[in-house]
Amino acid sequence: MDIIIDIVNTRDPFEKEFHQAVTEVAKSVKPVLDKNPEYRHAGIVERMIEPERMIQFRIPWVDDRGIVRVNRGFRIQMNSAIGPYKGGLRFHPSVNLSIMKFLAFEQTFKNALTTLPIGGGKGGSDFDPKGKSDNEVMRFCQSFMSELFRHIGPDTDIPAGDIGVGAREIGYLFGMCKKLKNEFTSVLTGKSLNWGGSLIRPEATGYGAVFFAKEMLATRKESITGKVCLVSGSGNVAQYTVEKLNQMGAKVVVLSDTSGYIYDEKGIDEAKLQYVMYLKNVKRGRIKEYAQKYPESVYTARNAGSGHNPLWNHKADCAFPSATQNEINAKDAQNLINNGVYVVSEGANMPTTPEGVDIFLDNKILYAPGKAANAGGVAVSGLEMSQNAMKIKWPREEVETKLMAIMKSIHEACLSASQEYGTPGNYVNGANIAGFIKVADAMMDQGVV
Ligand code: GLU
Repeated sequence: MDIIIDIVNTRDPFEKEFHQAVTEVAKSVKPVLDKNPEYRHAGIVERMIEPERMIQFRIPWVDDRGIVRVNRGFRIQMNSAIGPYKGGLRFHPSVNLSIMKFLAFEQTFKNALTTLPIGGGKGGSDFDPKGKSDNEVMRFCQSFMSELFRHIGPDTDIPAGDIGVGAREIGYLFGMCKKLKNEFTSVLTGKSLNWGGSLIRPEATGYGAVFFAKEMLATRKESITGKVCLVSGSGNVAQYTVEKLNQMGAKVVVLSDTSGYIYDEKGIDEAKLQYVMYLKNVKRGRIKEYAQKYPESVYTARNAGSGHNPLWNHKADCAFPSATQNEINAKDAQNLINNGVYVVSEGANMPTTPEGVDIFLDNKILYAPGKAANAGGVAVSGLEMSQNAMKIKWPREEVETKLMAIMKSIHEACLSASQEYGTPGNYVNGANIAGFIKVADAMMDQGVV
């Protein structure tokens, strides 16, 4: 394990998020390597931490004032042992190589857990869609795709959405890709319904995180009905987490964005959720406006320097971090425990710092890391690819039933791997080990490539 950490420290000394993701996996899989020395001899981990290919490119575009702007684009083609590279595109000012690599690394294990034949990749740009006009977003997406199109394809690499990339961006990206390739193929997922998208794809990540929580609760013979829940974020993942929690009889009391959060003790019911969807998806406004519309709620502006996020300091049973990486630090994790939270199902990728994760594990709560709990999104992307390949469309119920079955099987795989390697109920070890073994075995079969 130390050798692996040394390699990333020496080769990529400044990539802190990538180090964080690699360190966690390296710790979890150590007993697997001890038991199966052939993985060590074949340099499996050394190969897994080195992307098969990284593409970085310039994205010049012209804003509405006629000024030329330049952003940076990335695509990390991390691992294709079990299928073509697959993973989202993130448009956010924080995007850099370290964040792209950690996401692509996590994606490899997540995709392996889905049971579908998809490898791991991730991409994006430091472009910030916030405050940009539709035309600016379109020109940016077209410029982005005018380079990316030559590196992707339905059997090579299939990007999708992530933070800052929703239906609008996928539409613009797809339009340009189709024009440049002169073919209508399933080269992106998360497409709109009337031109190749899958039912339940927008809902999938949020619904999946709730289904995973349901499976964890079932191990203690409990259900989600009546539970009070904290959900961070207010984008795609958060919205459909709230929708499914409401359908299952739970109550959600918080939502957030980068500026602050709202607390609504009465619960964000279906009607209020419809308003949030309008506010975020159509008006592209801020969560603060929720408190103006519903005066029974309270808005608290973010104080980045405070060392903790007050959003996590409310009495509740379950938490669904659905905003971004490292949004829960040790103090937040302790606050959650002190407030009675005993179920954490991560809708975001790596939202808890390593110190926070240790607190969850030490307290033996039901804690599901993102690579297991949020795999529903990419799983339904996989189902979108299947439907496109067969040129058919499954009904809503059929996709949701398949999603539910996939989340159940991920839960089982994590639980049984955690038991087999001596840490029963530790879903972090379980997810890392189960995902690792699937990818490692495929790499062993395929030789040193
Ligand atoms: N961005 C999502 C994730 O983190 C979905 C990726 C996909 O659908 O390819 O898994």
